[in-house]
Amino acid sequence: MHTIKAAFLDRDGTINVDKGYIGSPDDIELIPGAAEGIKLLNDAGYTVFGVSNQSGVARGFYRVEDVLAVNRRVEELLLMEKARITEIFYCPHHPRGSAPEYSIMCNCRKPLTGMVDAARHKYGFTPADTIVIGDKICDVELGRNIGARTALVDTGFGVEEKVKIDGGEAAAPDIFAPNLLEAVTAILRMQRRG
Ligand SMILES: [Mg+2]
Ligand SMILES: [Zn+2]
Repeated sequence: MHTIKAAFLDRDGTINVDKGYIGSPDDIELIPGAAEGIKLLNDAGYTVFGVSNQSGVARGFYRVEDVLAVNRRVEELLLMEKARITEIFYCPHHPRGSAPEYSIMCNCRKPLTGMVDAARHKYGFTPADTIVIGDKICDVELGRNIGARTALVDTGFGVEEKVKIDGGEAAAPDIFAPNLLEAVTAILRMQRRG
């Protein structure tokens, strides 16, 4: 086991525009600043992973192969801007889906930590310094569950989720930021201060 700095980023609504249950690579459109934010993380020595709840599989909207094709497209578009994601992990499950094999209570649907555990196991590391950024409360809760610094972005569902947090429905992240680039900038500044 080696120690690395790791960033776990939500996909839909954080990296790419959330068009709702995206099953086709043609529907991938990066959010402005997302590639730049990921590149900043790369340059600061972070290994970047995606962690994405894809219950569209359990709900029968699309297949695992479609998720993989969409993930590849996201990674390709980012690479064109020199931003590197090591792997996008996804949870295809939902307790009340329609596809029986995926309609289970799993341990990987955020805010549970299964995708982070899978990344640690597959790449054999202990995260020394961990960041989680997303547009939903489940992303913030995932970060809290693994002891990460957390940021909630305004893109995707972020504005609606912030209203719930402000109303006391869920715990606040370390940082609220307009988008991924601003979130990364603020968190890196925070990490430098220790
Ligand atoms: Mg999201
Ligand atoms: Zn799962």
